[in-house]
Parts: sequence; C-alpha cells; structure tokens
Amino acid sequence: MTTIPTPGRLAAAGLLRHDCPRQRRRQVVARCSASRGKYFSSGKEPVENNPVTPMLQHLVYKIKATGPITVAEYMKEVLTNPAQGYYVHRDMLGEKGDFITSPEISQIFGELLGIWFISEWMATGKSATFQLVELGPGRGTLAGDILRVFSQLGSVLKNCDISIHLVEVSQKLSEIQALTLTEEKVPLERNAGSPVYMKGVTKSGIPISWYRDLQDVPKEYSFYVAHEFFDVLPVHKFQKTPQGWREVLIDIDPQVSDKLRFVLAPRATPAEAFIQHDETRDHVEVCPEAGVIIQELSQRIALTGGAALIADYGHDGTKTDTFRGFCGHKLHDVLIAPGTADLTADVDFSYLRRMAQGTVASLGPIKQQTFLKNMGIDVRLKVLLDKSAEPSLRQQLLQGYDMLMNPKKMGERFNFFALLPHQRLHGRSHEINANQSKPSPSPVAGFSELTWQ
Ligand code: SAH
Repeated sequence: MTTIPTPGRLAAAGLLRHDCPRQRRRQVVARCSASRGKYFSSGKEPVENNPVTPMLQHLVYKIKATGPITVAEYMKEVLTNPAQGYYVHRDMLGEKGDFITSPEISQIFGELLGIWFISEWMATGKSATFQLVELGPGRGTLAGDILRVFSQLGSVLKNCDISIHLVEVSQKLSEIQALTLTEEKVPLERNAGSPVYMKGVTKSGIPISWYRDLQDVPKEYSFYVAHEFFDVLPVHKFQKTPQGWREVLIDIDPQVSDKLRFVLAPRATPAEAFIQHDETRDHVEVCPEAGVIIQELSQRIALTGGAALIADYGHDGTKTDTFRGFCGHKLHDVLIAPGTADLTADVDFSYLRRMAQGTVASLGPIKQQTFLKNMGIDVRLKVLLDKSAEPSLRQQLLQGYDMLMNPKKMGERFNFFALLPHQRLHGRSHEINANQSKPSPSPVAGFSELTWQ
C-alpha cells in the first residue's frame, strides 16, 4: 500500500522547512477587496462616458456588415482577438491592473496546489514521468509556487522526470510568465508559427513549453491545473420568453451612435440546443468552449491517467445572469469601451460535470475554504508565521489568509473541482482476483478531510 503523507504533514515544517515566506511585491489587502469573484452584476451600472475604442469600432463595423452577434462571439472578440483583444497585449493582473487572483494574493495557495499534485502522483503509483499543464497561467505566479514545492520536495520527486506545459493565448502574459519562471540569461527558443511557440528551461532546470491550444500539448501522463481560466471563456446567453428560449444578442443602439445594446434573437438560434430539456431557470448561460476543453481533458486523463484541478468562481447549475466586466478593480458595464475591461461569467460546474461524465470521475465543486482547510492551510500559515520576524510580512500573510478563506471574500465564492480516472476513486477492479476484496483507494486530498497517515 502506498503511504501518502497528509497535506497537513507536507505543509508542516518537516518537508518544507527551508523555505521562507515569499516577499510580496506590494501591499495586498487594500486592493484585493476587488477580486473578480466577489461581486455579482450583469454590468448594468450607470456609466458616464462611452469612449469609442478600436475594438468598439471593429464590432460596430462587424455588426453593420453581418447583423447582431452572440454574447459568445462578443466575448471572444473582446478578450482574445489577436490584434486588439483585452488579454493579448496587456498585464491586467494586480495592483495596477483590473483584478487580483488567489495565487497573486498568497504564496500558500500555489503551494497547497503543488502538494495536491504530489499527493495524487503518490496515490497513483509514482509514475517515472509527468507533465504539469497549466491553462491560462496569468503571470506564472501559480506555476512558480507549485514548482517551488516540487523543488523543496526534491527527495520525494528525485527519480521523476517533470516537464511544464503552459497554454496561453496572450503574447504579453507569456513574456511575463517566462520572466517569472525562467532564467533571463538562458535564451528561449521562439517560433511564432509553431504550435509550441516558445520553449526553455525553468529556474530549477525543468523543460518548459508554451502553446496556444491544449490540443497541441503532448498526450502524456499529466496533471492539469486551471485557475480563473474557465470564467473567461465565451458564454452564450438565453432568455425564456412566452415564445420559447431566445438567445441574447448584441446589436448597435439605434438611438445613440457607437453604442451597443442587448437584444433578443427574434427566432430560435442553433445554440439553443445547449439548453437542458428540464431547465427550470428563465435565464441561462452556456459555455460550449468549456465543454470542449473538459471533454479533451477527460479523454486525456482516461487514456493516460493523471488528474485535472479546476478552481474558479461559479455555481452548480443554479445561477442565471452572471456576465460582468472589471476595470481598475471596479465593476464595468460589459458593453462600454470594449477591449479595455475584463469580461467574465461564473462557471457552471454542473455543465462541466455533464461534459466529463462517462469518461472520467469528477469531484466537487467544493468551496475554496473547505478545500484549502483540508489541504492544511492552517499548518502552512503557522509555519510561515513562525519563520517571519518582520511584522509587515506577518500581517501580509494573515491578510492573504483572510482573503482566501473568509466566506465573505473568496472562501465561499470560489470552488474546486477535479477530474480523475474512474480507477482512482473505485479501485483497479481488473487487477483483483476473485478471492480478494477490492482495495479501497486512498481519499483524494482536499476533497475530504484527511485523518490517515
Ligand atoms: N490563472 C491566472 C490568470 C487568470 S486570467 C491567475 O489565476 O492568476 C486568465 C488567463 O487565461 C490569462 O492568462 C489569459 O491570457 C488566459 N486566456 C484567456 N483566454 C484563453 C484561451 N482561450 N486560451 C488560453 N488562455 C487563455
């Protein structure tokens, strides 16, 4: 039987004893009251002005030429259009940006996720090699914290060949990720035309590659992580009307030049097929791109093993209108000055579960507060507090903990969801002969309180 150290134990001084609290680049708490997950709005707040951005101009021409567009098309254009997309050429994270995320708030977040992957790697037989694949890595902070844990647990991972694979559409953010994760002195291999558009070696000597599309990542035994990635994928929106479901579209306001407005499609649109037959809500958001990615992850995990850990704000098929914008840490009307603000919608975990069903097992969604508690956040915080003499650093650690765990902040708004091979939860029945009882698989860290050794 594999003995797995509990996350609490890994997080305690024994295994991570040489590390110190990461010196944060800036004060955290004053600005992080505006994480994206905290608010709920459909962008109907009053706005004083409506600057005509290049993106607005582009969308107005497009709508004039071909008619109203779906919310999904709008989101995709505004966020990831290769020429002017919000994500493509800017760093929107942090103090000077538009929103703040958990890995940027506290180093403990990424460390506990690193421990989760090691715990799963151990529980599934310590394969000789694995890929860590991150979708939408932002500034590379989460990957950096996970890699630090891998280095600190070098004795556990010493015979394992690890490689890092980042799926990122943003040229600007991929450059920042490279600065965070690799040595400046060692040049990166670049090839804009290739599916692997950048390649290098991390500061701890691990091969690292960048892709625009998950499809291009080698189909090998992998651990996948996606934090605040699914919420930026384009959603279709539908409204129930006396005539049946109608898709919400975006059109030009006939009363005001260069202003956009929501309208309802006069007839059913093909995307209506995404709505469940027994749907009871009167407004729904569906994200087909999330479905495609979940199916791809599920097929990969069923084929090669591994696991996916997805963390985001969201609901389990209960919420209605969650489409909203963020600019400068404030809510922003989604139709005003497109291209200058982040657009996001809560992740529907019930939809993700349906897309994985039949191929892999899923766990969650469970609240961030519960997941991090089960992973040993209290032990880890204590270790870091004991090591830091500087009062400002101690205060930063405590404020970061509060932000991640407080139910009124990110503790209840954010959820964890995992995809695992069926055998991981139900045992390898084909390996058991008729006289043996089925071995009970070890609990999955984070999703249950671990009391065993
Ligand atoms: N995970 C990071 C960043 C979240 S912001 C954190 O938690 O701090 C969303 C990230 O997803 C950004 O890196 C953005 O550039 C990337 N992204 C957005 N749409 C994408 C797409 N379609 N494919 C790949 N990456 C995408």
